[in-house]
Amino acid sequence: MTLQEIKGIGPKTEELMNRLQIYTAEDLLKYYPLGYDLYPSPTPVALISPGGKAAVRARVISDVVLRHFKRMTILTCEVSDGEGTLRLTWYNAPFLAHVLIKGKTYVFRGVVREKGGRTVMEHPEILTPEKYADLEGSLVPVYGLTKGLSSGTIAKAVRQVIETDASECADYLPDWLREELRLDDLKTSLREIHFPESAESLRKARERLVFDEFFLFILGIRILKAREEGAKSAYPMRPVWECEEVIGRLPYRLTSAQLNAWREIEAHMSGTGVMSRLLQGDVGSGKTVISFLAMIMAAANGYQSALMAPTEVLASQHYEKLMKMKEDAGIPFIKPVLLTGSTKAADQRRILAEISSGEANAVIGTHAVFQDRVAYRNLALVITDEQHRFGVRQRQSLTKKGGCPHTLVMSATPIPRTLGVIYYGDLDISVIDELPSRRLPVKSAVVDTSYMEKAMRFLSKEMAEGRQAYVICPMIEPSEELELANVREETARLKKEFRDYSVGMLHGGMPADRKNKVMEMFARGEIDLLVSTTVVEVGVDVPNAAVMLIENAERFGLAQLHQLRGRVGRGTEQSYCIFMAGDTSGGTMERLNILKESSDGFVIAEKDFALRGPGDLLGIRQSGDARFLLADVTRDSGSLKKAGETAARILREDPSMETAEYAKVREHLTAYLTKNNSDIAL
Ligand code: ADP
Ligand code: MG
Repeated sequence: MTLQEIKGIGPKTEELMNRLQIYTAEDLLKYYPLGYDLYPSPTPVALISPGGKAAVRARVISDVVLRHFKRMTILTCEVSDGEGTLRLTWYNAPFLAHVLIKGKTYVFRGVVREKGGRTVMEHPEILTPEKYADLEGSLVPVYGLTKGLSSGTIAKAVRQVIETDASECADYLPDWLREELRLDDLKTSLREIHFPESAESLRKARERLVFDEFFLFILGIRILKAREEGAKSAYPMRPVWECEEVIGRLPYRLTSAQLNAWREIEAHMSGTGVMSRLLQGDVGSGKTVISFLAMIMAAANGYQSALMAPTEVLASQHYEKLMKMKEDAGIPFIKPVLLTGSTKAADQRRILAEISSGEANAVIGTHAVFQDRVAYRNLALVITDEQHRFGVRQRQSLTKKGGCPHTLVMSATPIPRTLGVIYYGDLDISVIDELPSRRLPVKSAVVDTSYMEKAMRFLSKEMAEGRQAYVICPMIEPSEELELANVREETARLKKEFRDYSVGMLHGGMPADRKNKVMEMFARGEIDLLVSTTVVEVGVDVPNAAVMLIENAERFGLAQLHQLRGRVGRGTEQSYCIFMAGDTSGGTMERLNILKESSDGFVIAEKDFALRGPGDLLGIRQSGDARFLLADVTRDSGSLKKAGETAARILREDPSMETAEYAKVREHLTAYLTKNNSDIAL
């Protein structure tokens, strides 16, 4: 089903949805709500107070006044429920002047604010009392939005897809298996995750969808593993003294955990089999340098290697670092090149030629490094982060020689061993369980917004001493529905606040070359303060950045906050991270305080889980793992085990999934693997 086949979606809405990476009906179904809004019983006007959303049932008692102010229109009126009166305001919605009728009663639901000594409600929704009665008490989905697209529009489209019984909702698990696993069917689960009837049905829905995410993933991994078993390496290597030289010339000493991990990798690559290994270590444990050593070893043996980073920013940073290492350590035989989506056409042609001739032997980039037009001469080692674990395994097409390259996967995801065996069942594991010792732990503070002024003074003081800072916001643009810090407005505000410093802006909606430029400037110290969304979360390394302020910290999962915090505390200076909650209700502070008490990603994940409990429904998308939409290894360990057992059972009963029972599973898995960029043929 295409988007335009859905009633109510025209080219314009389709384009807006595309901006949210929604291209098909299936994408739409998987565009899960960020949270749910409850339509509460209306509050007496006299009892509402500023700060938060409320609903009132009241009569319009004044004329509806439309004023023009600069390029804005402001619509106001007074309403009363007999005991209290309230002013309502709408911006840029002149058409409402004809909707509201003096003397009529409506239910208004909106944000309550204090303005000029009065309580006002801004931009309320207007509903008839009858319509409101229908909605009262129900959970209404709130979606991540882009300008011009409302949660209501998305919800309507989702409902259509589900109600028309589109093939995207059809279950692929056989009924008997689903019943045995005590899982709801797919269609029900999709309906309930978007429009929950109750907290319990939402929990069940989530459980089913989480199972699916794990199940398909694990099934794919197991098939991969079975195919690779016993494969011989086409790229025999031996340990080289150049690596020892490089280690000796580093500006620091490798920790013993780093050294152990390196020895394991070195031994594995010089063995006869094909390496598929995970390098696991918390943020800041120093994984990058180990991956560079592996690249150097491959180059010294006459082979090529490729390192794929999740973002262009990170790719170019890795490239700069490897170039610097090449100079510092005097290793002329390694020739790094950077290949990303924004590499200019002329450079690209040259680089592609160098790759196919073998002259370029350390290719660093984004997924561009694995496009079909990149033909390697003898690619012997592929390094990726775990999100791309599928995509690049077994891609013999990568190299003219056609042998299977060694793979090294890097991860900061903390996971207990028992679960790791399921989750990383296809990989051998090296762990860096120690942080470099010279480093001071990041000092963390958990505060509410009343601390903002102090935070500003603190940032100012640190910048005066030459440090750099990050300010992180959950949103790019202001939104009418969610009142959250956003990069656009914060950048403007902070530019005024810190006139003497250079303030930069970074977010995922910017063109890639612009993002790179900003990040490079930040890395070079030309930007003092960087206002950003979570795009800085992955891997970026600017040791002089010593302060991070995270606004609306309650909007993020703890794992993600831990990753974010990992961007500071990388140098020798004392670093600070301020977690600022915009909304302190519902145990937020207690949850955030976990970050203050621990800097161990594993401990944080476990405590977070224990505190929230499996019944927690708020923030259904807590996982910091971009590969899964809902699933979280710690939180959903039960589902992970179940999925592992089910995958094993199916492969035992019917390894190629040819029977009628499993034909649909196979079909579904094929679609999943294609989507995840893997060329494992089933
Ligand atoms: P991550 O494991 O999060 O990818 P990085 O590889 O980015 O961590 O390393 C974080 C920082 O620590 C980098 O600036 C790196 O140069 C530095 N570093 C790595 N290993 C050590 C070490 N043994 N001693 C001191 N600093 C180190
Ligand atoms: Mg890293």
